[in-house]
Amino acid sequence: MNVLFTNVRIIDGSGSPPYAGEVLVQGNRIARVSRGAGRLPPMAGVTTIDGAGATLMPGMTEAHTHFAWNNALTLDEIQLMPLEEHMLWTAGVAKTYLDHGWTSCVGAATAKPRLDVVVRNSINEGLIPGPRYLAASQEITVAGSLGDDMLPHLPYPEFSFGQVVSGPEEMRKVVRMFLKYGVDSIKLNLSGDNLVGNAPAKTNWMSDEEVAIAVKETKIRGKRVSVHARSCESVKQALRHGCEIIYHASYTDDESLDMLESAKDKVFVAPGLSVIVRLLYEGEEFGIDRKKAIALGYEEELAAVEESLRAMHKRGIRVLPGGDYGFAWARHGENAKDLQYLVKYAGMTPMEALLSATKHGGEIMMMADELGELKEGYLADLLLVDGDPLADLAILQDKKKLLAIMKDGVFHKEPEMRTARTRWSLPAA
Ligand SMILES: [Zn+2]
Repeated sequence: MNVLFTNVRIIDGSGSPPYAGEVLVQGNRIARVSRGAGRLPPMAGVTTIDGAGATLMPGMTEAHTHFAWNNALTLDEIQLMPLEEHMLWTAGVAKTYLDHGWTSCVGAATAKPRLDVVVRNSINEGLIPGPRYLAASQEITVAGSLGDDMLPHLPYPEFSFGQVVSGPEEMRKVVRMFLKYGVDSIKLNLSGDNLVGNAPAKTNWMSDEEVAIAVKETKIRGKRVSVHARSCESVKQALRHGCEIIYHASYTDDESLDMLESAKDKVFVAPGLSVIVRLLYEGEEFGIDRKKAIALGYEEELAAVEESLRAMHKRGIRVLPGGDYGFAWARHGENAKDLQYLVKYAGMTPMEALLSATKHGGEIMMMADELGELKEGYLADLLLVDGDPLADLAILQDKKKLLAIMKDGVFHKEPEMRTARTRWSLPAA
């Protein structure tokens, strides 16, 4: 399909200020980007879409998704969903992300061994709608840590949220199993989490021997390791072993920040703020009132996260929106709230928050030279937005404001042909 967007306000994902212009999509790529109006005349075989002043920007990337999480209150509840329902649920969630403008997603862990891989393959085969997707393993954990919810009298590993290993050889076996299934990344739970009482955020669980063998086996297959690392020590452990994607990084010190900075061209951080922020401020209706949230450590953690994120952002470490959505208190589809969180807690400007979802998104998808910017030759993943996200990032949370969603040159959501949209005063081209 060939599409010409005219009369659009372009945020191109390079960091340049927005400008009025026109964009031609040919096949699955952006063929022309021009400043001003009337430079790209209507052409035969090209559908012209008058944007009427709407914003055209690159599709967004969510760096920390769990399609298999079923908006439940607890990890057990997620895992108790039978496989058949769970597969369909996961497929449905893939569409939800695309519906909300996330044209790429990085899987951060799934709940049963092959859910993520099957969804990714089904998207790529055109069987179901969904974003570009990198499939994750289950969380790999150790006895007593986050993700081990086996009970002493019911020691059935298949009912555990995470895959529980003990020692390098068991780790090797599980990692190889997931690699055989075709995951794009292996997920290790290095630290605990305040969500589970027995293993709070500041505790560390995995041995260096276990992490080392996981990273070694994963790299042999050319894949990446992502980690759940809230504690300061777990962030350092991840960096010592060359893990590329660090989820949370709530607690840092000068040493861990120095380590992050020296690895900043390789490493991505996605804090997953939704759990902390929502439980701390809106947890009441989910049985976690403010007192309980504070007792769980969320107030203290949020203060630490803010300090860590601001320091990381200042040092040029890439912090991406990635939110751990898929719980009752932060449901799938609400993910664009992360952009506001990045402004509030990481000290980003709205433009920097947008870049973290677009330019850095292309980078974490390992497609930096063809994804994440609105640039000639790049893949046509585009959003036509009714409004100015730089003036109000919240509009990206509203599905109705996404007038058109294009992935790989194909409309997932086609724009209604109408002209009565809000107009902005456009800077001179
Ligand atoms: Zn997560």
